Amino acid sequence: MDLNLSSTVSNPSSNGDDQEELVRVLIIGSGPAGLSAALYAARADLDPVVLTGMELGGQVSLTFAVENYPGFPEGIGGMELVDLFQKQAQRFGARIEFDLAAEVDFSDRPYKVKTQNGKLYLAESVIISTGASAVHLNVPGENEFTGRGVSYCATCDGWFFKEKEVIVVGGGDSAVEESLFLTRYAENVTIVHRRDELRAGALLSERAKSNPKINIFWNTVVKEISGNGAVQTVKLQDTLTGEEREHEVDGVFIFIGHSPNTSLFKDQLDMDKNGYLIVDNFMQTNVPGVYAAGEAADPHFRQVITSAGMGAAAAIQANHFLDENPLPEK
Ligand code: NAP
Repeated sequence: MDLNLSSTVSNPSSNGDDQEELVRVLIIGSGPAGLSAALYAARADLDPVVLTGMELGGQVSLTFAVENYPGFPEGIGGMELVDLFQKQAQRFGARIEFDLAAEVDFSDRPYKVKTQNGKLYLAESVIISTGASAVHLNVPGENEFTGRGVSYCATCDGWFFKEKEVIVVGGGDSAVEESLFLTRYAENVTIVHRRDELRAGALLSERAKSNPKINIFWNTVVKEISGNGAVQTVKLQDTLTGEEREHEVDGVFIFIGHSPNTSLFKDQLDMDKNGYLIVDNFMQTNVPGVYAAGEAADPHFRQVITSAGMGAAAAIQANHFLDENPLPEK
């Protein structure tokens, strides 16, 4: 990578034209991990800057209701929760920038992060909280009909399917939770799951099975999505018999898991075979002063509360790191 930084590296301070800035903690991503890191870093007087990425709040902001974040016994809307996270971080001085990290160079400090808006951050420490994105089915018609019947977000698109027939692909917590949400609008919701048992937790699974608007096609996969301008049919296959059949639908909601948004850090940070950043118990990546928190580094828990906890831990560690590793005077 060539960030063409020769002039800026020698003088790592703001050059006054707002295109270059030295920051103590740069947080990449604004989901629960990033905003919790921002809160803790701000309260440590580190003046953190948060690059929001494409989606302020990350995946949870697209969730209709969060019922398992402590402190909200009646549940809270995902967007509302993110808004509270953001306000709390800003109250202590965190700065939120609606910008996207486009290039990074972690070869030496200060670390360099260039944004899509052309700004160059020289960061004494970095917390990566870029989250994860929906996995695609990769079947014919999926890309063609995305936004025209194919969706990865029930909260965003459910309303368009009032009294329509929709299928939800997947058997995990997301698929089941979003199916329940879709029953507010759709006439019928059919969960299409490749096995004969849901992966989702017991409570959600029971709610889905007892909902009269939800039907489940077991041992079934989607082979193709087709239509004329908008989705009309899906080709389904029985995984036990191999038999294929057409099924008429208006919408196809796909919730088959997530993959971490870490391609930006390839060749710079250690990651596992699935692209999750590898961190130690202190959220530290293989580069000193570069931390990762939330789903970008968590293939296991992927909860709002665990991501928020990782973000807080990363900020606490960044604070220790900065105390112990001041940048040399230029
Ligand atoms: P997930 O738990 O990984 O489930 C993915 C589902 O999609 C599985 O049922 C899987 O089938 C199926 N699947 C995967 N690839 C497929 C393919 N190519 N074709 C057809 N089906 C496919 O993902 P998730 O539901 O997004 O949940 C992610 C994490 O977030 C989990 O840890 C979950 O507990 C958490 N979460 C929690 C809540 C909550 O607590 N309320 C809500 C949402 C998410 P198999 O079962 O056969 O593997």
